[in-house]
Amino acid sequence: MINEKAYGLGSKRSAIRELFEYGRKRVSVVGKENVCDFSLGNPSVPAPQALKETYLKLLELPPLETHGYTSAAGCDELRAALARNITDTFNTEARPQDFYVTCGAAAALTSALGALTADENTEFIALAPFFPEYRCFAETSGAKLRVVDADEKQFQIDFEKLENAININTQAVIVNSPNNPSGVVYTESTVKRLAKLLASRSKEYGKPIYIISDEPYRELVYGGVKVPFIPEYYANTVVCYSYSKKLSIPGERIGYVYVPQDAEDSRRLFDAVAGAARAYGYVCAPSLVQRVIAACVDVPPDLTVYETNRDILYKGLTELGYFCAKPDGAFYLFVKTPENDGEAFCERAKQKDLLVVPGAGFGCPGFVRISYCVDTDVCIRSLPIFKELMKNSGK
Ligand code: PLP
Repeated sequence: MINEKAYGLGSKRSAIRELFEYGRKRVSVVGKENVCDFSLGNPSVPAPQALKETYLKLLELPPLETHGYTSAAGCDELRAALARNITDTFNTEARPQDFYVTCGAAAALTSALGALTADENTEFIALAPFFPEYRCFAETSGAKLRVVDADEKQFQIDFEKLENAININTQAVIVNSPNNPSGVVYTESTVKRLAKLLASRSKEYGKPIYIISDEPYRELVYGGVKVPFIPEYYANTVVCYSYSKKLSIPGERIGYVYVPQDAEDSRRLFDAVAGAARAYGYVCAPSLVQRVIAACVDVPPDLTVYETNRDILYKGLTELGYFCAKPDGAFYLFVKTPENDGEAFCERAKQKDLLVVPGAGFGCPGFVRISYCVDTDVCIRSLPIFKELMKNSGK
């Protein structure tokens, strides 16, 4: 007998991966220059030179220093560097012992969700549009994921719906800003209102309702937009971070969970994160990249290509009559389809070798996601195809 749940998860590829594989096949048939593949959030900007130099330097050290196990929670140099980086960047005091280093945001999220799954009644709330893997992560930890429908105009939070969704079993609300797939950054007023609501409902139920803040796009913002750092507004926050997108190293698998010392029960919560990570086998993230990040924690991302792509696509698509909220961050555009049916639009687009992801998996079936971490040339080539798709939509 095999675990049918695990079989279901492993045998069906996600819609995004499916499309990406399809794109690879089409490239081999019609050529790269004839495919516009906006399927995957795989950074197109090379990792900074400083990383390469650090890797090379570290490889000169005795192998036992670079390739051995570190502590389960990460090596001391990295945890100290993370604490300094957060303390210097935000209005907060972070300590090395507040960080659990993980294999990217995915492992950070599963560890945080595992830590907060108190019993079989536990619920987590996702705010649409949301990263589809949240469902699998929450359900695997034994909890239920409750989805709050999107505010499809601004892609901030629909507070009326959120208020109705919170209940005695709510353990945490998962927040992702800058957002995948909308690219929208929550404003300070949204974050303040969320903090007020959760503080009041925590009081009502006599237990903390946490925020799990999923932040792999924290530094990917354009035009000087500020991303409110949620622990500054709400102490009961668990931050899940990743270097996948900021430094273009998604394959290196490196990120962390940060449990601020002001969070209620913070030491027990941190130990529960460590325990959940241990149970999933996430001890000692890859040691070489831990040391690289310790040396490169302050290296900024190069945003020039993404910003150019965003401007070309946002301007081009809105001029063609498409609606999308202006993305201030990440590298995604979430576009309303003329037929109000993301699946149907994606199929039409696929016939023209334009690959975009249906919005249903993100909780918004009328939309599609464009992942613009691609060469700028792909964005330029795509606009006449989007024009044709609009023309043939019957609208
Ligand atoms: N959370 C969001 C919102 C994402 O977009 C992604 C990856 O695309 C992840 C988490 C997982 O990131 P990682 O590659 O660091 O595991």
